[in-house]
Amino acid sequence: MKPEAAVVGAGPAGILAATVISTGGFATRVYEEHPVIGEPNHCAGVLSVTGLDKLGVDPSDEFIQNRVYGGRVYAPDGEFIEIRDRKPRAYVVDRARFDRYLADAAMDAGVEFMLSARVDGLRFMEGTCMGVTVGGGVHESWIVVDAEGAGGRLLSRSGIETRQSGIMTGYNAEIGGVEVDPELVEVWFGDEFAEGFYAWVIPIDDSTVRCGLGTAGEDGYDRLKGFVKRRFGAAKLQGVTAGQICTGPPVDRAAYSGLLLAGDVAGQVKATTGGGVVVGGLCAQLAGETAVDALGSGDACWGRLSGYERRWRGLYERELKTMYTARRLLNRMPDERLNRLLAGLRGAGLQGVLGDLVSRGDMDMQAGIIREAARNPRLLYVLLRGVGVAALGELVSLLR
Ligand SMILES: Cc1cc2nc3c(=O)[nH]c(=O)nc-3n(C[C@H](O)[C@H](O)[C@H](O)COP(=O)(O)OP(=O)(O)OC[C@H]3O[C@@H](n4cnc5c(N)ncnc54)[C@H](O)[C@@H]3O)c2cc1C
Repeated sequence: MKPEAAVVGAGPAGILAATVISTGGFATRVYEEHPVIGEPNHCAGVLSVTGLDKLGVDPSDEFIQNRVYGGRVYAPDGEFIEIRDRKPRAYVVDRARFDRYLADAAMDAGVEFMLSARVDGLRFMEGTCMGVTVGGGVHESWIVVDAEGAGGRLLSRSGIETRQSGIMTGYNAEIGGVEVDPELVEVWFGDEFAEGFYAWVIPIDDSTVRCGLGTAGEDGYDRLKGFVKRRFGAAKLQGVTAGQICTGPPVDRAAYSGLLLAGDVAGQVKATTGGGVVVGGLCAQLAGETAVDALGSGDACWGRLSGYERRWRGLYERELKTMYTARRLLNRMPDERLNRLLAGLRGAGLQGVLGDLVSRGDMDMQAGIIREAARNPRLLYVLLRGVGVAALGELVSLLR
């Protein structure tokens, strides 16, 4: 049967959009280039407790490996501040199993998956997207949701340039036989190993971690080895993977006639951390709702689909842009300033204030935390000294 909706990519965004469309009563097919959903898996797997709840996904032990209560943020000189909540703030998940869990629910809702099916082009007729081509064959549909992930290569091949910026490479490895606090993630700043981003240590239990970093350079693997040596001494890296992390702003346009973009391909990602599963998933569900509305009315032209732009931008764009400004601000800070900032926060005894802010804030919509921080005079003073007036002014202007 000809699908009414074609979805490119069986990542979280594609699967969640497809589930909504199929639940709305329309035949939906997901095209995935890999033979197994969720693989290759290159994700660190940190998903907020509230985010999963907002997505309507049950926190199942089928994919949850650990629960974390907070984190330690390390300055380049090794000094850190610790923020720990009384309740779990995030799940550490096995992303491959998470994606397959979502896919099982999608199949229950009637979604059809076509695996090992690489979409090589979007098919346009008179300016409207009317399907995809796979292996040279035409697959028609009334609407297409492109959830192909960061970079938009398929879009580009089809003549649409999103000009997405800030894409970095993220490396991940699993390391066993180490000693860590299983309740805390670690975030390490420092140009030596993670220029323009940071390195992370995610506990799976008290002796196994997922360790990684983001970089714009080509030497990420060597940097990761260097970081692991610094953090754990001699340790063996297992299953090193690399994937793309979005640290830029959302794209300018995510709806075209017959075509919606969702997830990383639309830059629906927290630029502070590169995490896109939750916010990209929420936007994908909105894309699914818009598709249901369009299919129901028999009209998938741009005018109808532009409602998607209004909805996701209305809910999330300001948040995403604030996080992007915070990322740019961090990128501009040399190591010595970061050292000073963390020392200032520790010296002023502000760990409790920060912990309180974070425990009341939303891990996925971080603008609220940034806004509250900018209202606290003690915190503002330390930030001003550490970050500088001009940079902080830019951030604060976005929060008004
Ligand atoms: C190292 C690393 C660590 C990360 N850690 C986290 C984290 O802890 N928390 C978090 O929230 N996010 C994290 N992310 C980001 C997260 O992985 C992405 O935000 C998320 O996967 C985006 O989902 P998506 O569905 O938009 O795209 P993807 O998950 O990238 O899915 C896109 C799918 O489309 C398929 N595809 C692409 N092109 C085609 C085509 N032409 N035809 C058919 N199929 C195609 C791909 O094979 C893929 O399966 C991390 C990323 C990296 C690289």
